[in-house]
Amino acid sequence: MTETAGLYIHVPFCRGKCDYCSFYSEPVLPGDSVLKEYSRRACEEVLFSASLWGKRTIDTVYFGGGTPSLFGGDVVSEILSCTGVCHSLLPGSEITLEMNPHDVTAHNIESFVAAGVNRISLGVQTLNEIHHRTIGRTGRCCTVRDLETFFSVDGYARCIDIITGIPGQKEKELLNDLETVTSFRPEHISLYLLSVEEGTKLHKRFVPGDEFDKEQEMLWDFSIEFLKSKGYIHYEVSNFCLPGFSSRHNMKYWQYDPYIGIGPGAHSFMNNRRYHLSPSVNEYLIGDRFEYIFDERKEYDELIEFVMTGIRCMDGFSPADFTKKTGGNFPGSVTDRLNENVRRGYLASRSGRYSVTDKGLKILNRLTFSILEDIL
Ligand code: SF4
Repeated sequence: MTETAGLYIHVPFCRGKCDYCSFYSEPVLPGDSVLKEYSRRACEEVLFSASLWGKRTIDTVYFGGGTPSLFGGDVVSEILSCTGVCHSLLPGSEITLEMNPHDVTAHNIESFVAAGVNRISLGVQTLNEIHHRTIGRTGRCCTVRDLETFFSVDGYARCIDIITGIPGQKEKELLNDLETVTSFRPEHISLYLLSVEEGTKLHKRFVPGDEFDKEQEMLWDFSIEFLKSKGYIHYEVSNFCLPGFSSRHNMKYWQYDPYIGIGPGAHSFMNNRRYHLSPSVNEYLIGDRFEYIFDERKEYDELIEFVMTGIRCMDGFSPADFTKKTGGNFPGSVTDRLNENVRRGYLASRSGRYSVTDKGLKILNRLTFSILEDIL
């Protein structure tokens, strides 16, 4: 039986550019005709993906971006119908849409739910006006009123994105954000540590140093402990959920499962091959073909990706899974490194799986590097 696959619909449009953002996006306003044009082209690409990989059984769809909530429910419905025709969309599929606080109205949410969306991820980031300005996020700051509206509609799983480690952010201010958000009992919370990337507007006015790194580490540890104390399961480095509400779509990225990405800059992983289109909406709209760029694969790339993503999941990964998914052998030298880190307390080992411990989580990047050192 062919494996199920995820479908990622990239929506590279935003109202403006946030100062901390290093992703590609084009500025548009809601209702702009380019959104319709884009969805028509996205449907053509969905059709093309079926000619490339055959009709696949899709069990997760994720509208991400960018700002997918700039699409109306009608556009989402059109793309889902076309997915159901070109591929096979399993009943009970997880269908997620990312939403900007600007678009939170009961009417909008209901129209997305009516279109088939059953999981909405709200980019709250912070409820604090000053921090909202510090990171230069476009649009207005999310309010408690927005949260009340967001939680007033039924029929979908509520997910919240929070950014922590903002310059000048105090523990009690972060606590206020986290207490407010968790008081609504969202089924899922994603917690991101602010990354100040070179080339962003934020980096021009704030360059992180050692002191900032320490403050970020403290806020990060504090947030994790707080969310766990509220009954959230820490199932992936940046993700927390109530029982039964982990992101099935994102698990595909972390567990080396296949997914088809649609749109300029969206990445795909099919038949152990990775590919993407160049990130240009203009080229995407005027082109009559889809010129995919396939990644060149070197000897250990599969293994490196498998370990780097698997180690992010709190229930870890197993060398046997690597062989099952890729047909490749898990090298003995890497298994030795894993066992060495079990002895040092950075990893735990149970039933053939290796998972990161609290001690290992604090040095995750260094730990991953040390496991893969011989093959990098
Ligand atoms: S809304 Fe998100 S994707 Fe758009 S500019 Fe801001 S951070 Fe970037």
